Amino acid sequence: MVSASKNRKFVSLSGIYIHIPFCKQACTYCDFHFSVNMNSKPELVKAILLEIDQRKNYLEGEEIETIYFGGGTPSVLSEDELNSILDKIKKEFKVAKNAEISLECNPDDLTEEKLEQLKKAGINRLSIGLQSFNEEELKWMNRAHTAAESLNCVKLAQDKGFDNITIDLIYGSKFQDMESWERTLQTVLNLNVQHISAYNLTIEAKTKLGLDHKKGTEPEVSEELSSEQFKKMIEVLQKNKFVHYEISNFGKANFFSKHNSNYWKGTRYLGLGPAAHSFNTESRQWNISSNSAYIQKVNANELYFEKETLTTQEQYNEYILTRLRTTWGCDKKEIEKRFGKEVLSSFEITVKKYQNYFDSKDGIITLNIEGKLKADFLASEFFLE
Ligand code: SF4
Repeated sequence: MVSASKNRKFVSLSGIYIHIPFCKQACTYCDFHFSVNMNSKPELVKAILLEIDQRKNYLEGEEIETIYFGGGTPSVLSEDELNSILDKIKKEFKVAKNAEISLECNPDDLTEEKLEQLKKAGINRLSIGLQSFNEEELKWMNRAHTAAESLNCVKLAQDKGFDNITIDLIYGSKFQDMESWERTLQTVLNLNVQHISAYNLTIEAKTKLGLDHKKGTEPEVSEELSSEQFKKMIEVLQKNKFVHYEISNFGKANFFSKHNSNYWKGTRYLGLGPAAHSFNTESRQWNISSNSAYIQKVNANELYFEKETLTTQEQYNEYILTRLRTTWGCDKKEIEKRFGKEVLSSFEITVKKYQNYFDSKDGIITLNIEGKLKADFLASEFFLE
């Protein structure tokens, strides 16, 4: 068995995630928690400030290395709303001097004035949801921006001094054949950004895309085409000095997402806002996914989250799930130290069974390209019941 205090040896810095659950319009493929009705935005921001008061001891005084505004669309926050959250965090937590402070934004929000406000507020990493450069595809996705706006906003952000920019891309849709995907990759390279997150389009049941798919008006995503595009992306980006450090993430040296890397390395984080998750190595908790219920319960100081304490098995499964996806891989020494000899031996049996999908060096097991295509399946093969 592993004690909590033993686990703590593996962590030293913490992160804060703030979920801003508002979007101008609903993208057809998205199943995140958000609302297109922004009437409750001021109240929700106030509730987040109150949640900070209620949960300021969750990280037990650890220094905050990363702050991440995700969503939803955090770029819909006004200057005052953003500053009020950041000021409160800085007041109640010890934030590292060089903390990475990221904010997800959509191209249509990034005016010169907005970028200046973000810079002034201390945002030092912009995550821009470009998704595609194909007008028809953007319309099909119901994105609120054009391809031209996508290209312009990156340039504008660079002109305003943002030197740590990541963009989001989606591949595998019916609009992308191999030729257009290669053109997309070239366009991305020309943008001269430091980081790229690229996600395979998935059809989620409760989305517009999912409903259209059920009706038979949208085709299945072609696994074969997605796999080819994934491999092409790795080839092109690696040739251009991007490190493929997690299945969906590519970064230039020194520009990996610290916040997300910390998730994958199992450090602690506090999640604020509706639907946000928190993790303290022993338990995981998640806030209610309803803006109105969240506001009401935070104001009444009632319970607004569910919580599960992780068993050793669950901690091991989580270790596999997160680490296997990354360039840091699964470390046999760490597995033995944290979970014991028996678990290590079960781990080794699975590695042997699927050896064609793994690379192994100095006791560290990572996925090769074919393995990356089957990451979820392979991770589940390691899981302890
Ligand atoms: S993809 Fe982003 S902008 Fe679109 S609905 Fe989802 S959270 Fe909102």
